[in-house]
Amino acid sequence: IVSLRDVQKSFGSLKVLDGVSFTVERGEVLAIIGRSGSGKSTALRCIDRFERVDHGEIIVCGHRVDSPDVNLRALRQDVGIVFQSYNLFPHLTIEQNITLAPCSVKRMALSQAKDLARKVLAQVGLEEKLHAYPEQLSGGQQQRAAIARSLAMQPKVMLFDEVTSALDPELTVEVQKVIERLAADGMTMVMVTHEMGFAKSIADRIVFMHRGKVHETGPASILTSPTTPELAQFVGTADL
Ligand code: ATP
Ligand code: MG
Repeated sequence: IVSLRDVQKSFGSLKVLDGVSFTVERGEVLAIIGRSGSGKSTALRCIDRFERVDHGEIIVCGHRVDSPDVNLRALRQDVGIVFQSYNLFPHLTIEQNITLAPCSVKRMALSQAKDLARKVLAQVGLEEKLHAYPEQLSGGQQQRAAIARSLAMQPKVMLFDEVTSALDPELTVEVQKVIERLAADGMTMVMVTHEMGFAKSIADRIVFMHRGKVHETGPASILTSPTTPELAQFVGTADL
């Protein structure tokens, strides 16, 4: 459902992705880990075409993402992305935040979009916050609302970029539970995370990025028995 082949991307003279290849099957959870600056976010952003690649092939849900004439609107309906910062619209209620894209992009009737908002908020355990404004929610609740907003577009793939790294430990757990439930429901997900314990428990496969390359990849067990010294060193200090 997601496939990257020999993807290269530079910012000026800095080569950030140096021949990245990996695939994600339907229903699979892939965790991308690695040091700061190794290219994790850039790889994720290329999947949703927030960055254009210099070289290589990316196919997502049948869309040729590396092609200049990819249908961005169709691509972004199939792929939801949630970042570290919640980016909810502060002047809109949670319900309005959620119904906005289905109404404008999918031309859904407002009443139908409101039903959908209730449904996706229930999925993240926030039904009672329908009419609240983002500032009235905790960080973890805002992040769950942001996930709900993405789900309202009924994506086939969800991308998460360190969605818990700005949160306190107990709020992190709330958000991780939501992601676990999505995984159990069969959602295809690619997540960048610093939480090694979470990656180990939820990921079907791990991609360890190092200096713009996929340095090691395999099942979650590579976190406890890495084969490269770089991954061993990276997980060495982690609490698994
Ligand atoms: P972190 O764990 O800190 O989030 P990361 O693995 O996600 O790191 P990226 O955000 O992909 O790393 O960045 C990889 C490199 O590319 C970094 O050196 C960064 O400074 C650089 N970079 C990222 N985006 C841009 C940009 N828009 N313009 C120039 N350089 C960029
Ligand atoms: Mg990043």
